Amino acid sequence: MKNQTAHGELIKADMMHLKMAQALNKQWKRQLHYVELILNDIMMLLMNKILLFFLIILTGCGKAEITDFSDTACETIVFIPYDGVTNEEIASYKDSFKKLLDSNFPDNKYQFIIEAPQILPSTCLNDFKTRLRADRVVDYMPLKPHYIFIGVTKSDISLPLHGSKDYGILGLAPHRGKCIVSTYRIRNKQLTYKIIMHEFLHTRGLRHCPNENCIMQDAKGHIKFDKMKVICDSCKEHYKRKKSKLE
Ligand SMILES: [Zn+2]
Ligand SMILES: [Zn+2]
Repeated sequence: MKNQTAHGELIKADMMHLKMAQALNKQWKRQLHYVELILNDIMMLLMNKILLFFLIILTGCGKAEITDFSDTACETIVFIPYDGVTNEEIASYKDSFKKLLDSNFPDNKYQFIIEAPQILPSTCLNDFKTRLRADRVVDYMPLKPHYIFIGVTKSDISLPLHGSKDYGILGLAPHRGKCIVSTYRIRNKQLTYKIIMHEFLHTRGLRHCPNENCIMQDAKGHIKFDKMKVICDSCKEHYKRKKSKLE
């Protein structure tokens, strides 16, 4: 009996220890949970600080770029490769064009963008569906203030011109903010940049030039690349006057 009672007491004591242990365990768990929460808070705070630090750096860079643009009244020249012109080809045309532009107008502040290659829709074809109608291509091209879009295509482009309904041409710039150039009739493709410069200067308001060595000469159906040597002084002056008016 005594033994049994003692055993009962022992069980009671064990139960009490167990309950106490469970209570302690719960308390520990609760406390650990609090510690976890506090650690989480600290981590969040640190992460926010780090994020804020990078945001400040990024915003700082962005702001610097934007300030640059407004300070210099920068315009953007966008090259669009159409119908088979590759990224490499357009990049090389752009580089040669930029070199010529920089050497003639060292204080120009253009920014350059090259778009991904694009296919022109069938609405840009001529009525015979044999070539691209240059004016329809230019109409299709984008237009945006402070941007000059230069489209380059490998397809032949034409216009109703010189008594022909479908007269093949090298380029067209009927609009201030955009022009199209075709490499189709250019034997040495590396000279394409000269036609690009000719059309680009049209977009800046320049007309044809009587100087036979000037890039702005009128091809009159027979383009002479070897004669398109310079942008003559008169055209340069004209460009600077027109450009200052545009700004
Ligand atoms: Zn012209
Ligand atoms: Zn000239």
